[in-house]
Amino acid sequence: AQDRYADLRDQPATGTCGTTIQMFMNAGLMADLPSLEGSGAEGVGLFRTELQFLVRSHVPRRAELAGLYARVMDNAQGKPVMFRTLDIGSDKVLPYMKPQDEPNPAMGWRAIRVGLDKRGVLRMQLQALIRASVGRPLHVMFPFIADITEYEAAHRILMQEMAREQRLGHSMPSDIRVGAMLETPSLAFAPKRFFEMCDFISIGGNDLKQFFFAADRENERVRRRYDTLNVSFLSMLRQIIARCADARVPLSFCGEDAGRPVEALVFAALGIHRLSMRPASIGPVKHLIRRISIVELARVIEEAEAEGLTSVRGPVTAWLARQ
Ligand code: PEP
Ligand code: MG
Repeated sequence: AQDRYADLRDQPATGTCGTTIQMFMNAGLMADLPSLEGSGAEGVGLFRTELQFLVRSHVPRRAELAGLYARVMDNAQGKPVMFRTLDIGSDKVLPYMKPQDEPNPAMGWRAIRVGLDKRGVLRMQLQALIRASVGRPLHVMFPFIADITEYEAAHRILMQEMAREQRLGHSMPSDIRVGAMLETPSLAFAPKRFFEMCDFISIGGNDLKQFFFAADRENERVRRRYDTLNVSFLSMLRQIIARCADARVPLSFCGEDAGRPVEALVFAALGIHRLSMRPASIGPVKHLIRRISIVELARVIEEAEAEGLTSVRGPVTAWLARQ
């Protein structure tokens, strides 16, 4: 399927109005890296580091991880890679971790909550990332931040590890950029200071949507019950976009919806100018973006919202059919 879009690989995702959307890809294993070249992605917007932990029978050692992360960066050939620290718990259970008997794992002990409670693993992973970066920029993204104190604590740990590595005489990354995944509605209403502390923010739409509608993303009965283009969800996105713009922090969207062409266009029209998706979706999404005016689509969405519809999907797809 990718071949159909091969001639678009080196073309920008620019709408007929002149607005350009940055196209990034999601990855998690070494095997994903060749797609960076093949898809024409500008970087890896979400590197799910837990996948490397999930395919092993033991906790990887620091040297092993550092080697792996260095190879990821080598393969990226200077394109940025946003490494998300371990997001375990919930749907991602490590084979060598004591299973937690939790009534509601999605809202339980997971991601940064585990990282902050079991700091040894988080520190080890950060050390591996710092060592892998030598002389290149390092992007670290913390998952499932629900309030500013968690981000502050994670940020502080990263800075401590940077200082420690420097003290030990290791070469340092040329630059460090720290960001958060916005996956809980609470974070959209965090104090301004939170947004100002972030070098970038990425919306984890899979989790954000599940918590926004209180609909389990793993439950077939409810997972498709609410439309991503529901005006309530778009309102939430508008809130996030406004908060990020206010603090001048770059915003991206990295959940599965970013790879769905209609959803991707709507996010772009709302003002999210970086999308990160599975590599195979880049061609189709780019193809569509290049055919339409993002500015005009923004008006279509505003009109649909003003009309009081439940979802903007109808008017948006009708408009697209006319393009
Ligand atoms: C998300 O929640 O949208 C996301 C990108 O992270 P994951 O799917 O790994 O939870
Ligand atoms: Mg998530």
